[in-house]
Amino acid sequence: MSFPGLSERLAEIRQTIEAAVARGGHAQQVRIIAVTKTHGPEAVEAAWAAGVGLVGENKVQEALTKMERVSVPVQWHLIGHLQRNKARHVNRFALIHSVDSPRLAQAIHEEGKRVGRPIPVLIQVNVSGEDSKGGFEPGAMEREIESLVRLDGLQVTGVMTMAPWEASEEVLRRTFAGARAVRDQLAAAGLPAVELSMGMSGDYAVAVEEGATLVRLGTILFGARGT
Ligand SMILES: *Cc1c(COP(=O)(O)O)cnc(C)c1O
Repeated sequence: MSFPGLSERLAEIRQTIEAAVARGGHAQQVRIIAVTKTHGPEAVEAAWAAGVGLVGENKVQEALTKMERVSVPVQWHLIGHLQRNKARHVNRFALIHSVDSPRLAQAIHEEGKRVGRPIPVLIQVNVSGEDSKGGFEPGAMEREIESLVRLDGLQVTGVMTMAPWEASEEVLRRTFAGARAVRDQLAAAGLPAVELSMGMSGDYAVAVEEGATLVRLGTILFGARGT
């Protein structure tokens, strides 16, 4: 097995998640997404063997190539930026986490209409306001929601966010709570928004305390990525 100790690490992570749910008080179900980007198909197979059925990839082409090479029936999640000219590939994924602009939302909506099935997506929000991060601004959501509710080629099942790198716990908490508020705002507007995709290897415990339902874990499962 190419990732020794994976099952043990997962058992610890599941305990950490359980304790974080109890501390946070949101009583949510949390699912782990094994982020297999830069790793070969054996990472996907190892995740499946260890009981993780969801994998995350941040590049469409890398994901499509890997899909051809694995035989285990994992659910594929796209967690990285999607170029509009690749919108035709969305139906290969169980969930697109990274709808980061109105134009991309429109393009995926059109693809959903074309295939006759609403495409499940999350709206990526840039809570921290960093220039380097994509996503909708929480302050603009009220206006954006008016458009999103009309895009019936989309099924908006929640929100995704990324916290600033190595942020303090206070900043993490504020970021994750901000994403939760946007999720609740989408739900209040009538969208089927229940998911909160937030938390990575370094910050998933705080994310779960703040209500994360999907945590995206790479390094903590598979080790550091080569460049
Ligand atoms: C790479 C990546 C992750 C996983 O990050 P780790 O720190 O390795 O757990 C999570 N989310 C997104 C969007 C990523 O690109």
